[in-house]
Amino acid sequence: MNNDEERLGELARLEQQTRLLTMTLTSIRDFAYIFDRDGRFCYANQPLLDLLGITLEEIVGKNFFDLNYPPDLAARLQAQIQQVFETGEIVKDETPFTSPLGVEGFYEYIFTPVLNDDGSVDVVAGSTRDVTERKQIETQLRESEERFRAVADLVPDLLWSNNPRGKTDWHNQRWLEYTGQTLKEAQDDGWLNAAHPDDRETALRSFQAAIVSGNALRYEQRLRRTDGVYRWFLVQARPVRDEAGQIMCWYGAATDINEEQSALAAEHAARAEAEAALQTRDQFLSVASHELRTPLTSLIGYADMLRRALTQGKGDIHKMTEVITRQAQRLNALLEQLLDVTRLQQGQFAIKRQPLDVAAMTAQVVDEFSIALPANTKHPITLSRPDEPVIVVGDVLRLEQVVQNLLNNAVKYSPAGGSVRVRVKCTAGDAIVEVEDQGIGIPGGAQGHLFEPFYRAPNVEAQASGFGLGLHIVGEIVQRHGGRVEVRSTEGVGSTFRVVLPLRDSEDAS
Ligand code: ADP
Repeated sequence: MNNDEERLGELARLEQQTRLLTMTLTSIRDFAYIFDRDGRFCYANQPLLDLLGITLEEIVGKNFFDLNYPPDLAARLQAQIQQVFETGEIVKDETPFTSPLGVEGFYEYIFTPVLNDDGSVDVVAGSTRDVTERKQIETQLRESEERFRAVADLVPDLLWSNNPRGKTDWHNQRWLEYTGQTLKEAQDDGWLNAAHPDDRETALRSFQAAIVSGNALRYEQRLRRTDGVYRWFLVQARPVRDEAGQIMCWYGAATDINEEQSALAAEHAARAEAEAALQTRDQFLSVASHELRTPLTSLIGYADMLRRALTQGKGDIHKMTEVITRQAQRLNALLEQLLDVTRLQQGQFAIKRQPLDVAAMTAQVVDEFSIALPANTKHPITLSRPDEPVIVVGDVLRLEQVVQNLLNNAVKYSPAGGSVRVRVKCTAGDAIVEVEDQGIGIPGGAQGHLFEPFYRAPNVEAQASGFGLGLHIVGEIVQRHGGRVEVRSTEGVGSTFRVVLPLRDSEDAS
């Protein structure tokens, strides 16, 4: 084969390659073109020719900048083209553009230098892609996201989104305002810090179960407001899935249900109160009938015995009348307690105020109480008191009742006997009356309930009768005098009840 034939063969191959290349460049949807340093077109593929409405012959030699670009775009392109020729580096950019035929679009373009062997550039290959559709979708997406954000910030609910693993990646403005957290603080598991410590475990467990199962979630929890107040929220979250059913993210909303919760709590409280009132009434009726029956039965029995003794002219009439009097007094005392409680409940428990000497008053009560005890009592009562008067302002009869009650209990709850010590003391501002016994004592768990109406400690024996009202009345009387009652007791060792009353101050004296 001679040289001419070789050259012809080479030419045919080249022609074939050029045809294939041209066909390829025609078949793609991108615009492909080549231009020289002066911006003159050396080539343009068919899609570009169609866009411009000219033929290949017409465009070759035509200047790139004769295409009527808006001035700012022309300047930008010029600078970029110059840059490619000078640096030999690729330039990528995008721009909106309206073709000479009036077709509006958004284009992405790449200028690639065609490098010579020595690295110099004579021509640049350009490719421009119509990305109008993609841009439109991007714009729509952005707009819809902005709309979503605007709505999300308007609703009163606290909203958020989680990634498929359950980590929080977004919160609406309401969440940030309510909790005082920043987006960064609330991110991932930061939201847990706003949950009530008692609700955190439930919240985490519910979330983890939802993530594993992919099921929507719904539970109630408290969330902390910026001022530290916790409010109840109904928390709901559901997964958002892609076309293949895979979870893309979770959206969650917390709705404030505090009012409903409070209404519910108030309803529960009202019901509990009504039930407690009913229970108190039942308790009252059963205790009252039991407690009143004992002295009454004995009273009737002795009255009958007395009647027979009188008719028959024999029997210890003196002892019988004594028992009758004692039982009648007991009945009277019980009825007085019931009346006092009724007065307390109806707000009719009046306290008459006048200066009185607590030491003298206590001494008198102790005297009267000791006299009433049997001669062979197992309860010697001792009293210690300051010589000078201890003046408080109060109701003498009611305060006598307090000391009587404490003395009575000291004896009643010391079935094995033991001395009862009464002490009157005076501190800087208080008058103190202590009644100490060596009786059965009070179990630790019961000590906090002694002043509740009808309460009786579990260690009281059946024969130590009582309503469980005495200390309640004592507590109320002392409280109405601005004082308090303190209890120290060890079960099986004894108890000390300490009444603290404010001393009369100079104002009271005036
Ligand atoms: P009552 O004596 O009628 O039961 P109180 O209100 O006076 O009612 O006392 C309430 C309870 O407190 C008693 O039932 C008893 O359990 C306990 N209590 C009161 N005083 C004493 C005391 N000095 N020693 C032991 N327990 C006492």
